[in-house]
Amino acid sequence: MIPLDLVSVDALESLANNAQQHTQSGQLPTYIPALGQANPDGFSVHLLTITGQTIQVGDRPLPFALMSVMKPFILLYALEQVGAESVLRSVGIQPSDHAYNSLAQLEADRGFPRNPMINSGAIALCSRLPGATPHERCHRLCQWLNDQAQTHLTLDETILASVRDRPNEQNQAIARYLDVTDHLATSAAEALDVYEQLCCLSGTVSDLAQLGLLLVAGAIAPRHRQLVTALMMTCGLYQYSGRFAVEVGLPAKSGVSGAVLALVPRQGAIACYSPPLDAIGNSAASIWFLRQLAAQADLNVFG
Ligand code: GLN
Repeated sequence: MIPLDLVSVDALESLANNAQQHTQSGQLPTYIPALGQANPDGFSVHLLTITGQTIQVGDRPLPFALMSVMKPFILLYALEQVGAESVLRSVGIQPSDHAYNSLAQLEADRGFPRNPMINSGAIALCSRLPGATPHERCHRLCQWLNDQAQTHLTLDETILASVRDRPNEQNQAIARYLDVTDHLATSAAEALDVYEQLCCLSGTVSDLAQLGLLLVAGAIAPRHRQLVTALMMTCGLYQYSGRFAVEVGLPAKSGVSGAVLALVPRQGAIACYSPPLDAIGNSAASIWFLRQLAAQADLNVFG
């Protein structure tokens, strides 16, 4: 038996109950007003293994916008559509110790986005996705993921309206800088439009765990699996990534909605959702939960 298969419902339930208390150490984001309306006590988890074990604990799972948890899947889709050589010409593979929406980092790198797990890298990739219009690009990626991962992702129009209602000047400046330094294949406005729509694809923790399983055991090129998983390990939790790799040892990706997806290579995926965020922008209770679970169940990929 592999460790993830041995995790019991009781153990997960007890950790989830404790994790709920850690929601209080985080804060709801307000720069996307609709995300500020989320339940500040919410916590749910879905664990899925390649052998078919499924455990769900915490609150009744509600759909949430994936936000930056989409980034590994934007990368995966781009890799599968246009290949690694082309993708790696438009985005780097180096971690950053700046925030995920840092213009200063992009300027220091003269417009070449440091990695695909931060906004600049994802926006650059969004300009290269197949499709004639932003809507079509988003729709095709969504369809591809739903087919490949058996998910039910849909565009959350309410969150998208909220995103559009309050234009994100930081992201606009990033897109403009990418454009003037010749790192976009479309206009800045179009690239940002695709990015914003993709961030508003929404699903439940069950969908997110299915997406995780696509990376762990899906019919994708091994090189693409390695690339995406390694970048989650080194860059997926922004400035916290290095520490999480050392202390927890799992590839993971977070989003500002409070989602965190952790992979257990060759075994399965753990999807968490809890809206309050820590200072770096990672879900406070989800990170606490994953730290405890990885230690208890011996999940660290480094042994
Ligand atoms: N759409 C969000 C933004 O660009 C995504 C960021 C995130 O989830 N960390 O701000």
